[in-house]
Amino acid sequence: NAGWIEVICGPMFSGKTEELIRRMKRSQFARQSLQIFKPQIDDRYATDAIVSHSMQQLPSFPVASVAQMRDELDPYVEVIGIDEVQFFDEDVIEFCNEMADMQRRVVVAGLDQDYLGNPFGPIPRLLAVAEYVTKLHAICVKCGDPAHRSFRLEGDPQQVLVGSDERYEARCRSCFALGFNAP
Ligand code: ADP
Ligand code: MG
Ligand code: ZN
Repeated sequence: NAGWIEVICGPMFSGKTEELIRRMKRSQFARQSLQIFKPQIDDRYATDAIVSHSMQQLPSFPVASVAQMRDELDPYVEVIGIDEVQFFDEDVIEFCNEMADMQRRVVVAGLDQDYLGNPFGPIPRLLAVAEYVTKLHAICVKCGDPAHRSFRLEGDPQQVLVGSDERYEARCRSCFALGFNAP
C-alpha cells in the first residue's frame, strides 16, 4: 500500500492548525510515529511548536526549506504533518508525493489564498495531487457569514507578512470586496 496526501486549507482563523493538531493527536493515540514541520518564518507563538489561535499546540520542527525537512526526516516516520505549507516553495509538492509514494500519510495545512485573494504558493498543485481536501471557513468578522478570505488590515503590499489578528481578519466574499469601506 502507498500512503496518501491530505490538504487542510482555508483562510486565517478557519481552524486549520486546530484540525492538523486533531489529526496528529489521533495518530499519536494509535501509536504511529509522526513528525510535524513548520516554516521557520512562522514565529508567531513559538518556534518549536505549531500553535493554534485557540492556543492548542504540538511540538514541531521549524525548517527553513524543503531540503532541511529532508535532512531532519526520521526514516521510520509513518505520518508527516506540515503547517503553513504555503510558505514553502514548489519543491514541497515533490516531497509530499515522494513521502506518500513511500507509504506515508502526509497531512498539510495552509492558506489557499493570500491577502489579495490569489492562490498561495504551492497550494494549488497540492490540492490537485492530494487524495483528500478539506476546505475550512472562519466566521466573517463583519457580517457573520462563512469567511473564505483573509483581509489585511494594513497597507503593506508584500505577499508574505506574518501576523495574527492584529494584522488580518476573516471576511466573506462581499465584505472582502468592500475593503476598508466595510461597515
Ligand atoms: P488557522 O490555523 O486556520 O489560522 P487556528 O486553528 O489557529 O486557525 O485557529 C482557529 C481558532 O481561531 C478558532 O477556534 C477560534 O478560537 C479563533 N478565531 C478567531 N477569530 C475567528 C473568526 N473570525 N472565525 C473563526 N474563528 C476565529
Ligand atoms: Mg494556523
Ligand atoms: Zn461578511
